[in-house]
This record gives sequence, C-alpha cells and structure tokens, in this order.
Amino acid sequence: MSTIDGLPPLREVISTHDLRAKKQLGQNFLLDLNLTAKIARQAGDLTGSDVLEIGPGPGGLTRGLLAEGARHVLAIEKDARALPALAEIAEAYPGRLSVLHGDALEIDPLAHLTPPIRVAANLPYNVGTELLIRWLTPPAWPPFWESLTLMFQKEVAERIVAKPGSKSYGRLALLAQWRADARIVMQLPPEAFVPPPKIHSAVVHLTALPAPRYPADPAVLSRITAAAFNQRRKMLRASLRGLHPDIEVMLEAAGIAPTARAEEIDLEHFCALARILAEAGPQDRQR
Ligand code: SAM
Repeated sequence: MSTIDGLPPLREVISTHDLRAKKQLGQNFLLDLNLTAKIARQAGDLTGSDVLEIGPGPGGLTRGLLAEGARHVLAIEKDARALPALAEIAEAYPGRLSVLHGDALEIDPLAHLTPPIRVAANLPYNVGTELLIRWLTPPAWPPFWESLTLMFQKEVAERIVAKPGSKSYGRLALLAQWRADARIVMQLPPEAFVPPPKIHSAVVHLTALPAPRYPADPAVLSRITAAAFNQRRKMLRASLRGLHPDIEVMLEAAGIAPTARAEEIDLEHFCALARILAEAGPQDRQR
C-alpha cells in the first residue's frame, strides 16, 4: 500500500528500517501523514522558502514539508538508523531534500541554506528549548529565520506565549515575545505519537519581527529578567537590588512600582528599565 506521495506508509518505513523508538534520543514519532501535512501548513507558505528541519526521524514531517511545496528541506538527524528512510524521500523529491547526519546542537546549517529560511521541528523537548533560546538570541537581529514552527511539551508552549499575570509568564515569554510574534497553533494529545509520551504537546509558531518590539540592550534586559524571575515572589526593589544602588529610583522612572513582582511587569516596562539601567552605566554591586 502506498500513500499520496507514493512512498510507503510510515509504519512500514519503521518496520523496514527497524526504527524502533529509542528513549535516549527522545523518539516519539508522528505516523499520520495528514497530521504532519497539517503541521507543515502551520509553517506558512513554504513554496519560496528553504526549510531547516531538525530531527526528521522516519520523515513524517519531512514528507509533509515537501508535499506542502518547500523549495528545499535541509534535515539534521542524529540517529544514523533513519538515514536510509530519509534517502528514499530524497529520491522521491529530486534535488529538494538534503540530510546532515549529526547533533543539531553542534552543526551550523547556515552554509547549506538560502534565504528566506523557515524552521520546522518535532524534537526532543530539551533539545528544542535549547535551540529555541539560541535562535532567539543571535548576535544580530533580524535572525537567519523568518519563522519557527516547533513542537513542545504543552507546558513549555504555554511558557513561550504567556502574558503578564499568568503563572507561566517568565523569561522565556519575554525572550520570545520581545522580537517575535508567538502563537500556539495546534495541540496534540499523547496518542498522536508512537510511542505516546506522558504529556500533551503543542506546536508553537514564531514569526521574527524586523526589529525588537521596544528598544533595549539584549544583555541588560537578560540580566534584569534573570534577577527578577529567579526570585519571582520577591518585590522588584529586593530582587533587583544587586543591579544598581539606585534601582528603586530607576524602577519608578521606568513606570514600575518598586513593590511590584516580576510576573506583573510587561515587556514594555522591562525594556524601559533596561534602557535606564544601560544609560546609568555599570555600577553593579554584584557581578
Ligand atoms: N520528526 C519526527 C517525527 O515527527 O516523527 C521524529 C520526532 S522525534 C520526537 C525526535 C527526532 O529527533 C528523532 O528522530 C531523534 O533521533 C532526533 N534527535 C534527537 N536529538 C537530536 C539532536 N541533538 N540533533 C538532531 N536530531 C536529534
């Protein structure tokens, strides 16, 4: 039996290539090609874009991305067992799929990609969060990518899109929303995967803004949000005390009540404080 792309169904691919899921590689596969095509559609119009896919595994999402018209897919996979299955896909889509074998945390894919570039991945959650943070903190903005469409544990997805006042709101929300639009576009139950993970998952779609929403020095903003959220129950005048002797005056100048707590403060106000602190220069009490 073949499928709409003429390739074998994913269950057959897995048994032919003996791709039994390995826990240490965070392997929870998506085997429903309708579902992977739906995820690929969340990545936007792929026809004029190169797509960087991390962790293609047996290639369900890869096939979705190619069927949705991606100009070229560059896939990075750590598990050598998946390479023959991916080679069959490359053959079915001549010149449109390249595969790099290795650890996505160690490979720089940029030399193999032509802009515009979109990123799509169903990755182990720990690798996904680490890559997301790297992609959100490039040396210069705008970044190499136009959009990121990434599967996360639902709880992490909620932290990425969280707004002030919610318990998920923290550094990840600020980092993601400062220079990108971030939305949850799909929710998936454990049964969508083989084997099913213990938790629910969600796909987050982030679109890079041309410039930050509010001006601020990334390093200063990061120091403020680290100090503020590391002691999120404390009032800001206490949690930020180490940053500057006059922090209370600075908080007031930024329009923030010194008695407020980190989770009440929105991005605009954190950026205002970062500008005031940067202007005052380095006067830290603690480094
Ligand atoms: N994308 C496939 C799908 O949706 O069915 C597989 C998803 S599975 C959750 C994660 C995939 O990422 C596996 O194929 C695994 O081997 C691969 N992987 C794990 N760690 C990786 C890393 N550091 N770099 C590249 N690939 C990795």
